[in-house]
Amino acid sequence: MIYADNAATTKLDPTVFEAMKPFLLEEYGNASQPYSLSRRPKEALAEARAIVAECIHAKPEEIFFTSGGTESDNWAIKGSAFSDPDHRATITSAFEHHAILRSCAAIERLGYPVAYLCPSAEGIITANNLAGCITHQTRLVSIMLANNELGSIQPIKSLSEIAHSHGALFHTDAVQAVGHIEIDVRNLGVDMLSASAHKFNGPKGVGFLYVRNGTKTAAYANGGTQEHGLRAGTENVASIVGMAVALKNNCEELDQNRKHLLALENALLTKLDQSGIYYQRNGGDRVLPGLLSLSFPGSSGERLLHRMDLLGICISTGSACDSKRTEISHVLKAIGLDDKAALGTIRISLGKYNDMKEVNEIADMLIRILSS
Ligand code: PLP
Repeated sequence: MIYADNAATTKLDPTVFEAMKPFLLEEYGNASQPYSLSRRPKEALAEARAIVAECIHAKPEEIFFTSGGTESDNWAIKGSAFSDPDHRATITSAFEHHAILRSCAAIERLGYPVAYLCPSAEGIITANNLAGCITHQTRLVSIMLANNELGSIQPIKSLSEIAHSHGALFHTDAVQAVGHIEIDVRNLGVDMLSASAHKFNGPKGVGFLYVRNGTKTAAYANGGTQEHGLRAGTENVASIVGMAVALKNNCEELDQNRKHLLALENALLTKLDQSGIYYQRNGGDRVLPGLLSLSFPGSSGERLLHRMDLLGICISTGSACDSKRTEISHVLKAIGLDDKAALGTIRISLGKYNDMKEVNEIADMLIRILSS
């Protein structure tokens, strides 16, 4: 099996599994209890918070553990809308993940207005784009750091500056970016940032929301006093420890992984170029290393995915068929890709565990299928 769908999820780092084990088997005490069995879990939570904070240049008290990217996004959108009745408007983009789009739809149903910015054909939300839409009624701007289908990296620093100059908060869904490119929350100027461990070789079902000190947000879950009383519930210590180890490992290897992934994607694209098969790469010039959105106009991405699957290769597509119709993804629609190209779009997302042999195999099989 060759796994090339790392934007969907990643393989657990074995050192992460080892770090988690003691908290599942022996150190299982509830971190909120005062007795000695809970001492180690409590310390481990504090250590994990400090590690995660350091990896994104935040302070430990600005890290709130959640169940993953979806929860972090829901919290950022709903928590900020509900915390300020005077500034009700939210601005986001049309090509966000559904965790953002459906959270926005939920607050719209409650009467909070939301505007959706359209990305350029390269998959970028520009500063001009935001400047033309923002008003002093805007409470929150939420634009993703890197798009999950295209890999396109957004100009977050200039977007957050515009938001702040209008008195609005800025959130970024950085689920695809954390652990893959350098993240400095101070330099980006964000007030909130979402991340998810299973996208950077950590366990599934755990993530975090960075909330800059002093940022007003409503509680996400009411109950106990965990996470400063804003996200109540007994902490998933093993997974939180695993997330911290995974993030630290990936952050220490950022440069090495980037070089490795760029070499792999270059090899794949060179083979495709040499084959003479026509394709276009989506997402512009600044994309996540290893993430390739490729359109083969006239081909079926869905057919390519299934043929590759039969050969033991996991990739993804930009459109999904059910028995009655083919649905083109909202991301490809938002960048204005024509139907022929959109239907022939696949996403190959390489990760740190892929090697050159696998990439050559992926390219050879793709070329074989496309030429048949
Ligand atoms: N945001 C983006 C950009 C994503 O790619 C994903 C997952 O695919 C999510 C949010 C949701 O994250 P999770 O799977 O941790 O809920």
